[in-house]
Amino acid sequence: MFDHDILVIGAGLAGMRAAYTASQSGADVAIVSKVYPVRSHSNAAQGGINAALTDRGDDWEDHAYDTIKGSDYLGDQDAIEIMCREAGSEVISMEHMGVIFNRDEEGKLGVRSFGGQRQARTFFVADFTGQALLHVLHEQILKIGARVYEEWFVLSLIVEDGECHGAVVMEIRSGEVHAIRAKAVILATGGLGRVFEPSTNALICTGDGMALAYENGAPLMDMEMVQYHPTTLKANGALLSEAARGEGAYLLNSEGDRFMQEYAPNMLELASRDVVSRSEQTEINEGRGIDGCVLLDVRHIGETLINEKLSQIRQLGIDFANVDMVHEPVPIRPGMHYQMGGIKTDVNGLTNIMGLYAAGETACVSVHGGNRLGANSLLDTLVFGRRAGDHASNVVRSRQHSDAITDQYAERERNRLQEMLNRNGGGELFGKIRLDLGEAMNTHLAVYRDQQGMETALEELKGLKTRYDRVIVHDKGKTFNTNLIFTLELGFMLDCAEAIILGALERKESRGAHTRTDMPDRDDSNWLKHILIAKDENGQPDVTYQDVTITQWEPQVRSY
Ligand SMILES: Cc1cc2nc3c(=O)[nH]c(=O)nc-3n(C[C@H](O)[C@H](O)[C@H](O)COP(=O)(O)OP(=O)(O)OC[C@H]3O[C@@H](n4cnc5c(N)ncnc54)[C@H](O)[C@@H]3O)c2cc1C
Repeated sequence: MFDHDILVIGAGLAGMRAAYTASQSGADVAIVSKVYPVRSHSNAAQGGINAALTDRGDDWEDHAYDTIKGSDYLGDQDAIEIMCREAGSEVISMEHMGVIFNRDEEGKLGVRSFGGQRQARTFFVADFTGQALLHVLHEQILKIGARVYEEWFVLSLIVEDGECHGAVVMEIRSGEVHAIRAKAVILATGGLGRVFEPSTNALICTGDGMALAYENGAPLMDMEMVQYHPTTLKANGALLSEAARGEGAYLLNSEGDRFMQEYAPNMLELASRDVVSRSEQTEINEGRGIDGCVLLDVRHIGETLINEKLSQIRQLGIDFANVDMVHEPVPIRPGMHYQMGGIKTDVNGLTNIMGLYAAGETACVSVHGGNRLGANSLLDTLVFGRRAGDHASNVVRSRQHSDAITDQYAERERNRLQEMLNRNGGGELFGKIRLDLGEAMNTHLAVYRDQQGMETALEELKGLKTRYDRVIVHDKGKTFNTNLIFTLELGFMLDCAEAIILGALERKESRGAHTRTDMPDRDDSNWLKHILIAKDENGQPDVTYQDVTITQWEPQVRSY
């Protein structure tokens, strides 16, 4: 058994920011990550990070208003105010740590325009902003010497009487299972993209943290709010960053029309993501698409600028769509990208379980509501990662390790895994179940939804769970048993899918990314509220509601 003051689960931006802050405050911090830290999905973020800097004539309240409108008024305004107020100092502190942001002609930090915002306020490092931020934070983690359990997999949380005391983890290399005792645990496990197939997310984005919290009775909030990004490649779901539209790209239909003029006459291609994705899907559904796609055209920007600011996505187009965007428009379509919902936390990352925090994409603070603005997620990970680290480091000063926590928790997990490995016949391997899950979700819980489709998805999920109960792990070994890891991840994914479908069936209106063809209007009188799903004492999902916090921006009609 290992002991630490604070155990951070996840080495993406949220986890490393939390660990860095808590360490600086003097706590003994450890990080667990199922992959080498800089392989976390934060590494894939291309476009940038938002902040309203006053010396650029911008105002945090404008950023807050854009975020609230983007959220279709479902975001909690107190949390959004905090995020937008703290954004400037967060970006500057990352710059001081060593992130080499792009600069403009005057030598000041450069910005690009991103969707749903009336000001250009997205700071960026070419089209690999996430990688730049993540590597710099990783350097800081190495410098302060925090213990990193890299390539260790969290199997379960240790929760007794509503308090979290650590986690049980498996070292992937040896297959050994250990308990790690901690006075506080911060879940920073990222998103659940791969519950859908395809997705822009890395294969490791399987919602583990959300499922772990859900399993222990923490509510998941706004899970029906799943973002489809407007520009993904058909072949494999890979993302072409909003940076392309930020730099001026057009969206065209099969008739060569810039169709966003119809749907969002003011903001055009830079309307909110939910709006652009719906517009594209309507064009495709009404026969003005090309092979299930519309076109992203950047030719007018010119090769020099494309190479300077969009080189990665140019390469993605060449590699996966066989199209060089310098010479031809690229076929793209809406694809699953981001989970707005997650583990319900307060503005310091605390969940309803004492000692358990969450931050980053796995959490729902809530700052994104029904639709996240591009470049607000990196900001969310850093601001709320830091706040969670800060709060936890204060709390652990007066908390002791619980003596009741012994190796028995690890032993329970060793037995559970052994039982799984002992299973030999009567079931199937994980792969087909995972694919069927992803396809069911992408069929019935995509850009447009309706009652019948969502009920079908729930029915299919029941079948998938039955198949999972008999799942077989063909590799019986201990060393790097990735077959076992994938199988465990699938268990987490099925729980996440359940919360998404139940939330979606519950919300009887259209708001943000949750658009029902059978209930097309937003209904503020009945549904201006969060939907929370938590397991009751019998392990059954239970639905409750929570009011949306409104500070100074009353809901209005949303148009772009
Ligand atoms: C292709 C792409 C581009 C994007 N571009 C942008 C952008 O330009 N701007 C923006 O604001 N947002 C962007 N986003 C969204 C943003 O990148 C993510 O929401 C954010 O980086 C998530 O960070 P995180 O720290 O919460 O999680 P992640 O970076 O996903 O890290 C999760 C961590 O948890 C660990 N983990 C998970 N489960 C376990 C387990 N069971 N045991 C041990 N460890 C575990 C993983 O190893 C990993 O270290 C993009 C997302 C994608 C997919």
